[in-house]
This record gives sequence, C-alpha cells and structure tokens, in this order.
Amino acid sequence: MTADTESSTRWQTIRKHVAGLPVRPNLVDYDATCATFSWDAARHALAGLPGGRGVNIAYEAVDRHAAGPNADREALRFVRADGSTHSLSYAALAEESSRFASVLRGLGIGRGDRVFSLIGRVPELYVAVLGTFKNASVFCPLFSAFGPEPVRQRLHLGGGRALVTTRALYRKKVAPVRDSLPELQHVFLVDAAGDPEPGTLDLAALMRDAPPYGEIAATQPEEMALLHFTSGTTGTPKGAIHVHDAVTAHYATGLFALDLHPDDVYWCTADPGWVTGTSYGVIAPLVHGVTAIVDEEELDADRWYRILEEQKVTVWYTAPTALRMLMKSGTERAAAHDLSALRFVASVGEPLNPEVVVWGQEALGLPVHDNWWQTETGGIMIANLVATEIRPGSMGRPLPGVEAGLVARDDEGNPVLRGNEALLVTQPDTVGELALRPGWPSMFRGYLNEEERYRRCFVGGWYLTGDLAKRDADGYYWFVGRGDDVIKSSGHLIGPFEVESSLMEHEAVAEAAAIGIPDPVAGQVVKAFVELKPGFEPGEHLRLEIIGFARKRLGPAVAPRELEFTTSLPKTRSGKILRRLLKARELGLPEGDTSTVEVPR
Ligand code: AMP
Repeated sequence: MTADTESSTRWQTIRKHVAGLPVRPNLVDYDATCATFSWDAARHALAGLPGGRGVNIAYEAVDRHAAGPNADREALRFVRADGSTHSLSYAALAEESSRFASVLRGLGIGRGDRVFSLIGRVPELYVAVLGTFKNASVFCPLFSAFGPEPVRQRLHLGGGRALVTTRALYRKKVAPVRDSLPELQHVFLVDAAGDPEPGTLDLAALMRDAPPYGEIAATQPEEMALLHFTSGTTGTPKGAIHVHDAVTAHYATGLFALDLHPDDVYWCTADPGWVTGTSYGVIAPLVHGVTAIVDEEELDADRWYRILEEQKVTVWYTAPTALRMLMKSGTERAAAHDLSALRFVASVGEPLNPEVVVWGQEALGLPVHDNWWQTETGGIMIANLVATEIRPGSMGRPLPGVEAGLVARDDEGNPVLRGNEALLVTQPDTVGELALRPGWPSMFRGYLNEEERYRRCFVGGWYLTGDLAKRDADGYYWFVGRGDDVIKSSGHLIGPFEVESSLMEHEAVAEAAAIGIPDPVAGQVVKAFVELKPGFEPGEHLRLEIIGFARKRLGPAVAPRELEFTTSLPKTRSGKILRRLLKARELGLPEGDTSTVEVPR
C-alpha cells in the first residue's frame, strides 16, 4: 500500500467502539432509534409550564432546574480576560431573568414585542434572552461586529422596541442611526454605571429596583420566541421566526448530536449574535441542566487550550474556522495541555476539512464530529455521532426525527417536480439540493413580513435548504457547495446584495458585485468587483478609500477584504449580475453555460 492510499484509507472512516467510550452515549443504535423516535415522545421529556399553561423555553432551560435539586448547580461559568471565573447558578439565573422580565413589563414591553441584543458574551446577555422569553416577548440577537448599517437595517426590519448593548457599541453603531429608528423606544446599557448616555437606560439600576418574581407568561408552543436574521442572495436580510416549541428540538439534538449528560461541562464557542450562540450557546445546554462555559474574550490558541484544560471541558462545540486557526498554531501547543477531561468535540458552520477531523485525533485525542444545520432549521439536522463511525469530510447522517433528501435540479438550478412531489436523487454520490421534510419543532415558521419569500422555500413537499450535497451508499451526506451566491466567511453568512448596496452608496461607484473567494482560515472572504462612475479613475487610493467606506458602514466581518475595478460586470440579459461567472473567472474554473450573458468578457 502506498503512503497515499494508506492515508486515504485512514480518512475513509474513523471507527469507534461504544465499550471504549468514557460515557455511554445517549444514542447507541442509530437505526433502531430513528425507527422508534417521535417528536411527541421527545416533548414528554420536557416539563411544560406548571398548570398546563403552555410551553416556555426559559422554564425548560432554567426555572424547572431552579425549582429542583439542580438549583445550586452552576448554569453558566464565565471566564474573564485574566482567566478567573464567575458563575451563575440555575437559581440565580432564574432570579435575574425574572428581574429582566419585570423591567420589560414595567416599561410596557409585552407579548410579541421584539427585544434585540448587540453585545458580547456577558452575563446580561444570557439574562436578557431568558427574561425576554419569560415576558412572552421575542428575542433577536445581533452580531456585535456589524457596522451601523446592518444594525440599523435589522432593528428596522424587526421592529425592535428594546435593545440591550454596551456604551461603546451604542456610541459607535446605534447612536449614529437612532433617529431613523422611531420604534426603538428603550436602549439598555449594561455598563452605564449610573451615568447612561442621553436616550438610554441604566440596566443595572433598573434590575436593582425590579422584583425577581412574577409568573412566567403563558406562552403557547407555536408562539414566536426568537427572530434570527440571515442573509439571502437578493433583497434585505430575512428574519427567520422560531417558536417556543423549538425547545423540543434543542433538547433532542443536545441529547443525540452533542451527547449531553447531566455532569457535563460544555463549551460552545459561537458568537451570541448568531443562531448557534442561542440554540446551543444558551438553550440546549441549560435544558440539559449542564454547566456551560462562556469565554468573555475572543479566540486565542493558548487561551482556548487553557480553558479546555482548566475548566475541564467535557463536550466542546466549535467551528471549522476556529479549528483551522488552532491547527495552524501547531499541534505542540495542544500537547502542552492536559485535555483528558474532553470526551466529545463537534463542529458546525462550514465544510470541515478531513485534515481537521484527523488533526483533532492527533492534537486533542479525539476526532472532530462535523454537523450541519442552518438558521432556518433552528437546530442540528445532520450529524456525525459519538457512537458511530465518522467519515471525515462528511456532515454525517440525519438525526432521529429528521427526514432528509436530495432534490434533483434542472439545468437552471430549479427543483424538478413529478406531479406535486419533488423528484429525489436516489443514486448514491449524485448531487442534488439538500432538502428536509417539514415538521421538526425548530423549523422556522416564517420570514418576518415576507410570506412569499417563505413560501418559495417549500417545493413539492420539501423545505429546500439552498445547499448542494451528495449522499453515499450508507446514507452519509457530503457538502458540495451553496446552490446560490451567499458567502460564508468565518462561519457567518453574508448576502452579496447587502455588500453591493453599501458599496454603491460611495459617490464613485456605479455598480458592484460581491463574491466569496477561498481563504485558508476564514473559509471564504468577500471580494468586490466595482465599476466606477464617469469621471472617476481607478487607483490604489480610491480602492482603499472604498474598502474603508464599506468597512465603516458594514463592519469588518462583512465588508470586502479585496476589491478590483472592472469596466463591465457580466450580466444576464435580464440584467442580473452573474456572480457565478465572476467567481469562475476569479478561480480559473469552467465558466459553464454563458448563453444568457449580456456583456461577454
Ligand atoms: P447559517 O444560517 O448562518 O447558520 O448558515 C447555514 C449555512 O452554513 C448552510 O446552509 C451551509 O451552507 C453552511 N453550513 C453549515 N454547517 C455546515 C457544514 N457542517 N458543512 C458545510 N456547510 C455548512
């Protein structure tokens, strides 16, 4: 056997023996569990509001534990910049979140009202999410690396009535656009220290005066709990609506895909501004009554290894970008730490390179388990599991209760129908659009105020995810690429339209197109192509000026990293920019069908 085939055989599967695992997995027999699982049965594992008053995520996550033997258990353990920690028990979290609900109520913020956050991983964020649920209001997290424009747009689209943020973020990103947000009545500063900015409130002072009691509002399973903005290829960001019943899926996926056990110390590294940060950074671990680690700082290889070691993390949920950064920093760094408490590592957000799965085995002593889901699915749908073999490079298999399929697409990328049903790809290793049978509890229930956009996601009995994938003969799914032009950078979706619209606000820009280009750490970064208005000359000064302009408006996480001037952007005859073609040219790939291109090269 040559070295090459030997290493590819090693990569084909990573086999496991349940008897050799340190904790008996929650899911041992995949086929048998899939055959008997039902969402109704999963609902029975939850408590429901006392007196049969409905279902509320905060009750399942916190108050249920606070009322029982878990009351004094650490719910959240925050790691400060200097490595010291401070914790909130389940009882303390129940009390603080009730206080926050009282603050909202006192200000007249009620059922269905949207409460936004623009803040890092600090205790107030967790208190606010849970308190908002308790008040029957709707929580909507924003990414703190957004610039003022994405912040303004989402607050406006979501009709935000309240916002939890810090003084610095308020000054930089909200104050400049506040005048255009008349619906935003209350801004809570977590660090006002008795001296709030004009037009803001001191959250700590309000919390001190608010009663820590009051019944949790009776919310029904189908009532809106969360709003998560996500980006599409065209138009404004979409506000995906999630309901309180989603907690059933957070519970079941925490059980099966993350293998959470009551004694776990669990660490989810996701930013709270994105769906993973809520579904798996707040809800799933608390529902399982585990201790969740929260790092208040940003990624740093030594710091992260220190946290894994010192906090004795047992289950770690992170992202490919972060793992690639750790891998780049060298395996010896990991070897310097005692990671023996760690028993399960999972990753989500982008394709996970097989090399990273295998690196995990060498550096962490465990392979990394890739799983797949998206904002619209609200929870993990496809996963490599603790008890079953891993196929490095594959996203794994659908979880119990999830029916996945691959819908055939015609030459124009549209789903093929046979009568009313979508035609499924049945041949192994053949590309189709990844689709899910509607009906799982954390499925989005709409895009806010965009009925038609929501309806278009469902075709021939399936929810179409926009991702292209293959399935092998054993039912493992393999990611192929996005079926649209959306860009994934450091695990975050970026809508090209949003970037282009911002660029076009610069006085020199006539037209712009944004694509994702490969980057070894971020997966992709944004590259923009810009056509200038007459009278403007391309040059390095203008290039940097336009990039700076975009960074200021969009924030560094969204703005283009590269910018190239062009004299004609390729378009379809109907005038749509052909980003696909720009990308093929950029990467030296075949250009495909160019028969509809209006402006050839
Ligand atoms: P978001 O809605 O921001 O969570 O992004 C969801 C998108 O991220 C999916 O539709 C995929 O394109 C991508 N994605 C998520 N997880 C994976 C994965 N494990 N492998 C490949 N792509 C992924």
